[in-house]
Amino acid sequence: MAEVIRNVLVVNAGSSSLKFMLFDMASERMLAKGQVERIGIGNALFTFSTEGFSEKQSPCEVPDHTAAIRLACGALTDPAKGGCLKSFSDIDAVGHRLVHGGERYSAPVRLDEAALREIEKLSPLAPLHNPGALQGIRGCEQVLPGAPHVAVFDTAFHQTMPEESYLYALPKELHERLGVRKYGFHGTSHRFVTERAAALLGKPLDQTNLVTCHLGNGSSITAVKGGKCFDTSMGMTPLAGVVMGTRSGDVDPAVAFYLMKNGYSAEDVDALFNKQAGVKALCGSSDMRDVCAACEAGDRDAQVALARLVHSYAMYVGGYVALLGRTDAIVLTGGIGENSWETRAAFLKAIAGLGVTLDEAANRATRGVEATVSGKDSAIPVLVIPTNEELMIARETFAVLTK
Ligand code: ADP
Repeated sequence: MAEVIRNVLVVNAGSSSLKFMLFDMASERMLAKGQVERIGIGNALFTFSTEGFSEKQSPCEVPDHTAAIRLACGALTDPAKGGCLKSFSDIDAVGHRLVHGGERYSAPVRLDEAALREIEKLSPLAPLHNPGALQGIRGCEQVLPGAPHVAVFDTAFHQTMPEESYLYALPKELHERLGVRKYGFHGTSHRFVTERAAALLGKPLDQTNLVTCHLGNGSSITAVKGGKCFDTSMGMTPLAGVVMGTRSGDVDPAVAFYLMKNGYSAEDVDALFNKQAGVKALCGSSDMRDVCAACEAGDRDAQVALARLVHSYAMYVGGYVALLGRTDAIVLTGGIGENSWETRAAFLKAIAGLGVTLDEAANRATRGVEATVSGKDSAIPVLVIPTNEELMIARETFAVLTK
């Protein structure tokens, strides 16, 4: 039977941090948000805000995820802190962000012991992310035993990819036995901007073709055909695809073997490609604010880094426009896509061959808001759409429990 769901708590837990947001689903308004950092490390930091109230508590003792969620729920029910809830039982449902749902989950799932065991089995595919999220779920279940808990997966949106998109040209046995294939990430964000772009374009979702670009510290570009993922730039892990803040994106895999024959361990190569590569490796900073300022000041390394970055974006957009046949819009989101007008300008110039033009003034004026940044004569409109992964998780949680 459908349940009455009004207040949905969205939880994004990592191994030592837990972020939360509370939504009123009648209005889709965010009522409160906060985060706990340094869980189980000591000197934890708690930040919390509601309308008209914000606080930072540090240091505080938060030995585990159960204590973290208790701290969060304590603030949500404290009249002195905005008092958006009367008691813990006013939280009608909890939506948990999970990075990896493997091939098992193409949609959100209501959590029970069987589902938790299934998700635990997927941890080898996301060893840095899924175990922390599972600790968050266990903690929340202890503090909010009466509420239904739902897992929403970053990979789920991409499960509609056809074989020609997700298969690596490797022996089939690796896919079947070890799960070696493309999964894709940032799916919740790609889904959010896809739905919003279809609404803005006034097109039915199932007739909307897009290239959605989530550009942040981690970045991925997705080809959306008929409202569904057709291909995406990240791979079995979030290392593949475009150049990122500290991740290399696509590199000849033989570079890894070569380094390993020259004294690097597997762990060294992993850390090198994930943390010491990308824009940071090319010019010293991974933050596009610094990189664009350095470009403006004439720094040659920064200029090459920006050019290399947008070159990698353009390669995916060009390929996806070719695969889609008809592209209704290119969508930009994420910290860079929403805010960095310099990066957007360089990116749009890099895809001028597709007939895309830039509206210089609109592009410069756009920061963190919806806008069209391409010119009126552009062959494909380019839209900036701020993402809202937390609201998408709340919507999906609501939908699972009420439909
Ligand atoms: P994450 O992948 O960690 O969620 P974000 O989506 O927050 O990352 O994106 C971070 C990136 O966005 C950084 O490179 C940062 O420089 C860039 N960014 C954020 N705000 C601005 C801004 N106002 N101007 C230019 N770049 C920005």
